[in-house]
Amino acid sequence: MYCNIYRQRGDRRRWEPASRRAPRAAEADAVSGGFSAESRLIHAGTDRTAGRPATPPLVPASIYVSAGEPRPGRGYGRESNPGWEALEQALGALEDAEAVVFASGQAASMALMLALAKGRETIVLPSDGYYGTRVLADKLRPHGAVPVHVDLQDLAAVQRALGPPGSSLLWTETPTNPLLRVADLTRLAELAAAAGAPMVTDNTVATGLLQRPLDCGATASLCSLTKSLSGHSDVIGGAVVSRDGELLAALRAWRSSGGAIPGPFEAWLALRGLKTLPLRIARQSQSALVIARHLAAHPRVAAVHYPGVTGPTAELASRQMPAGFGPLLSFELIPDRAEAADQVVESSALILPATSFGGVESTWERRARWAGETAPEGLIRLSVGVEPAADLIADIDDALKALENLEVL
Ligand code: PLP
Repeated sequence: MYCNIYRQRGDRRRWEPASRRAPRAAEADAVSGGFSAESRLIHAGTDRTAGRPATPPLVPASIYVSAGEPRPGRGYGRESNPGWEALEQALGALEDAEAVVFASGQAASMALMLALAKGRETIVLPSDGYYGTRVLADKLRPHGAVPVHVDLQDLAAVQRALGPPGSSLLWTETPTNPLLRVADLTRLAELAAAAGAPMVTDNTVATGLLQRPLDCGATASLCSLTKSLSGHSDVIGGAVVSRDGELLAALRAWRSSGGAIPGPFEAWLALRGLKTLPLRIARQSQSALVIARHLAAHPRVAAVHYPGVTGPTAELASRQMPAGFGPLLSFELIPDRAEAADQVVESSALILPATSFGGVESTWERRARWAGETAPEGLIRLSVGVEPAADLIADIDDALKALENLEVL
């Protein structure tokens, strides 16, 4: 018995339940379909044979015993690992699709750009999304495709940027990091389809638990496993989830030839963390909403960025992310000065001054301290962890008092 993930048949658009195909090693005996994604990701990769370990074992292997015609995925360690397969099964279960895991989110983005940009002139990508994606597209210019930056909320601008049929690839990100702006994935997918452009969605902030880009029409959903999916700030990884068999094969080929593979231990850690994603993200989303509302009413705060709190996209955010808005928010201070934000970040006693997001511990940073980031100078990005919200609010309020000392200086 194995999970009810869907697989491609000859026709790119048609999928059938995995129960109609031969299992891959890690799928053998895992819990059967019909259960929720939450249940399936907990049991992904588990071999239910009596006497076997209850969780997928760590398999540090660079080679497998093999002679003659190599068995697919069991010849050389750059091709496959049982730990990746278990993790891919869990990630696939989240979005009713198949996953390919990589060494990092950036490695996953690079493979996607290389696989999808061929024969296209432009990569249309958000002007306010993760800056590392813009840097990568700029450096890589895969197969000559030139990056074009647009505001994804401006659908007319997106349509113009997509250009003539078949000429572009649409790269979306929502909510964006670090401004948490929400874009309408269904409308964007319609524009992409009309322009013959595959659409990628960077789903790192929401994860497949809170937002399902493939159901909105995206060709591929990308996630950095480094953030909420692994959730414990101890591993770097990335993944692409898709229902397009041709693309999945191309991604696996790029992973093997390019060598951007996750280590067996990293895959094991990511799967271990992933099992508690539903619990963590529910608590984080609940606390983040309370904190965002608290900050919005604070006299020292000029603006709060969090989906669903206020603004023209609040209704869209609730529709697109009905189960919660995730752990990430950002805010701007009065006065809007780098020095003020630095002072606040350094003044916390509980929230850890650090980058990244999605960990069990709350972290924050002044985002513009990174070269290449285009966020406002004084913007603080806060990743809400699983500490009680009351403790976090007390810590934030104390840290904001640092602004009073700053004005005296
Ligand atoms: N996408 C987003 C939205 C990110 O925030 C990040 C990293 O911060 C990445 C992709 C890249 O992921 P990684 O750091 O795992 O390479």
